[in-house]
Amino acid sequence: MLQQTQVAAVIPYFEKFIKRFPDVRALASASLDDVYALWAGLGYYSRARNLKAAAEKIVNDLNGHFPMTVQQWQDLPGIGPYTAGAIASIALNQPAAIVDGNVVRVFCRLHAKKGVSPKREEVWEWAKKNVNVAASKKLQPRDFNQAMMELGALICTPKNPKCMECPLHSSCRGKSNPALYPEAKKKTWKDIEENVICLLSGDTVMLMRSKSGQWRQGLWDLPNADRNKIKLQNNWIPLHSVKVKLIVTQHRITRTIETFEMATKHTAAISQVTRLIRKTSDQTEINFFPIDQLPPHGTGLKKSLQRALAVART
Ligand code: SF4
Repeated sequence: MLQQTQVAAVIPYFEKFIKRFPDVRALASASLDDVYALWAGLGYYSRARNLKAAAEKIVNDLNGHFPMTVQQWQDLPGIGPYTAGAIASIALNQPAAIVDGNVVRVFCRLHAKKGVSPKREEVWEWAKKNVNVAASKKLQPRDFNQAMMELGALICTPKNPKCMECPLHSSCRGKSNPALYPEAKKKTWKDIEENVICLLSGDTVMLMRSKSGQWRQGLWDLPNADRNKIKLQNNWIPLHSVKVKLIVTQHRITRTIETFEMATKHTAAISQVTRLIRKTSDQTEINFFPIDQLPPHGTGLKKSLQRALAVART
């Protein structure tokens, strides 16, 4: 839950989650929909999916016992070197390395290096060596790693580092101009254009669920629509077309939403549109939901609906 999300925002979600799933077996046997329901609002649903898949693996392959080594942790879905190192050192007090953005910054400044990514072997080797030296001097690995991250967060800050208070001051090669290290990285964006339709019937909206293996899998959203192929019957009144800009991780999405309203509730109109959407976009689960009780959904759904409804009701 803490990946990409601040502690204060996570606490209420964590408390509800742990009450509903008090142990790894409870999580492994839950349905993905139940897990998503408790995750709703946190975003980045792939974390919830991976967490459940990891719980299943622990129950099925390790008989419900948690892994004991960094490598075993990394073999679980969604757990990379950072999380494995954090669990092994902080929970199990093993001399395992952690490299986060703070550690990279301290490393770059200490060695006066530019452009080091957290994935670079060099910084991981340095962190491993240091935590092992610390352990050989009877320092607790969990304290050492947390101290390194805190040093970056509180002393060796991105702007205006407090070099005169830093315990590494005497050996730091970058202290005369810390702002040079590490070099700022440019974010690389992927631009995506999407066409979706917003079909309203009274206070409900039609949503589709992405299949396993598709982007945003298991989550509900407005149906994709190839506007050239979808020709709706007269029961659907076209309202408008609006554009919404969404940011989802590194994707910049421009979404065009065509909104239609059903003239009168008409079963034939619903089955016609369901058939058309299935045909054009390979989406099998389609349903109407009350607008104020949306099921677990992708990051852009609420914003898209707000925009579509604001124009529809003016
Ligand atoms: S001396 Fe300054 S730049 Fe060097 S590690 Fe300490 S805070 Fe960072």
